[in-house]
Amino acid sequence: MKVAKSIAQLRAWRKRRLGRVVFVPTMGALHAGHAALVRAARKLAGPGGTVVVSIFVNPIQFGPKEDFASYPRPLKNDLAVCRTAGADAVFVPSPQEMYFDDRSVFVDESLLSASLCGQSRPGHFRGVCTVVAKLFLIVQPTHALFGEKDWQQLAVLRRMVRDLNFPVEVAGHPTVRESDGLATSSRNVYLNPSERALASRIHAALLAGAGKKSPTTVESTASRLISAIPGARIDYVEAVHAETLQPLTSRKFPGRLAAAVFLGATRLIDNIPLPPTP
Ligand code: AMP
Repeated sequence: MKVAKSIAQLRAWRKRRLGRVVFVPTMGALHAGHAALVRAARKLAGPGGTVVVSIFVNPIQFGPKEDFASYPRPLKNDLAVCRTAGADAVFVPSPQEMYFDDRSVFVDESLLSASLCGQSRPGHFRGVCTVVAKLFLIVQPTHALFGEKDWQQLAVLRRMVRDLNFPVEVAGHPTVRESDGLATSSRNVYLNPSERALASRIHAALLAGAGKKSPTTVESTASRLISAIPGARIDYVEAVHAETLQPLTSRKFPGRLAAAVFLGATRLIDNIPLPPTP
């Protein structure tokens, strides 16, 4: 497995690859969800194809009061996870090489980014779009895989690829969960044992909400159950159209029930499908 620590190294290695190149961008602190993405990428690449993983904690997608400095960076373990899951190359660029101090060009998706996480994390999706656009231009993948756990991110990036004509096919991967339903996340390590025990109630609340008929009852049921979790503070609980992320007006349409919840100091996000009903 090639480990490229500079853009030049990655580009030189990429030049020699023919056929499919399937790309999995990550911020590291890899867990079972990331490993599943890399294994799915291996499958999608097919015989003769290539799987590239990037590990880069992207400074410009964090707000000033967020956890950029303390975000876990266990690189040695991450490389082992990539190798076991079948990556051919891992790209680990430095922030200095990725960003000039006087950078002045960004990629801004202005519609889907405005709701949900965009409300409480201003500038977050601009940071995500900018880094993914840069990584696409460096890695030049034919395909890219993203997790449905970050549903809004997936929708925003699909829109970026569509509107800017990136020659990349974007695919989503279902959310990987712990046995009690909690979505695996690099931020779960921030939870203390009692918060960790309570965290599974977020997914359970979403499932209970999804069983209801109208989008408003879906939302109110999930909100009520999440509010009852000791120490939980809701950022949002919303039923949205799966593609446009606009408020879901009817369960005739494909929807998504999405939530962001603080458990103590840790902000957790999750979402589940609201399949259309006749
Ligand atoms: P991150 O390192 O958190 O930026 O995530 C890198 C990629 O892994 C993104 O496409 C995420 O959506 C995806 N991912 C993170 N957690 C999960 C999970 N529990 N299940 C599936 N995909 C995930």
